[in-house]
Amino acid sequence: MPKRTPSTPWTKPAGAPVQGKVIPRPRRTAEVQSYLPELFRGMAITMRHFFKNTKEMMLGQKPDPVLEALNEGVTTICYPEEKRPYPERFRGLHRLTLRDDGSPRCVACLCCSTACPAQCIHIEAGEYAEGDKRRGYERFPKTFVIDELRCIFCGFCVEACPCDAIRMDTGIHATPYDSREQFIYRKDLLMEFTGRDGSRTSANPRHEPGDPSHPGLSREQNDH
Ligand code: SF4
Ligand code: SF4
Repeated sequence: MPKRTPSTPWTKPAGAPVQGKVIPRPRRTAEVQSYLPELFRGMAITMRHFFKNTKEMMLGQKPDPVLEALNEGVTTICYPEEKRPYPERFRGLHRLTLRDDGSPRCVACLCCSTACPAQCIHIEAGEYAEGDKRRGYERFPKTFVIDELRCIFCGFCVEACPCDAIRMDTGIHATPYDSREQFIYRKDLLMEFTGRDGSRTSANPRHEPGDPSHPGLSREQNDH
């Protein structure tokens, strides 16, 4: 055997035993080379599924892809007419919850905008009018704006709110608008949204200043 140097390519010695399984090279017959039989075979499978699925859809035999587990058949859904149910704790678009008199529960404390990592909440606080029992205890949001395009749906604002005034339980996901302005959700719109239960309020109790149940300081009585 000739001596091998590092530059000599390795070749299998003649007569060396064959190891492993030998796979014969496929024969390229005219049938294989023409591709036509496989083409028609593939088309037949496609058409078989097409007619089967169409028949099931027309006769109402198609299993519900949203609610039923499917092992075969059409697993896609006709979005947006059909939607998969969102999980219970899905964080959707924000809403501002209301008090019994229809005003927002928000007291413009700015906790949510401070906690927001995307800095997409803008609030301008206003003072209640002279004589309003809430004046001096709390303020109200003159302006409350959320930039839903910048929002990362982290839910920190909901966690930070001490008044249960902002929620993300609408079950609505962000809409694919085509203009920047449409992603700016203002107070009136945020107050329009309902929770998934259809409510605009919150079941958590709210004690208004002046009510006997209000836990805050009573400055008139100066008893604290
Ligand atoms: S969900 Fe997160 S990012 Fe969006 S407004 Fe709330 S705190 Fe900001
Ligand atoms: S929504 Fe809640 S946290 Fe945000 S300003 Fe209003 S009361 Fe404060």
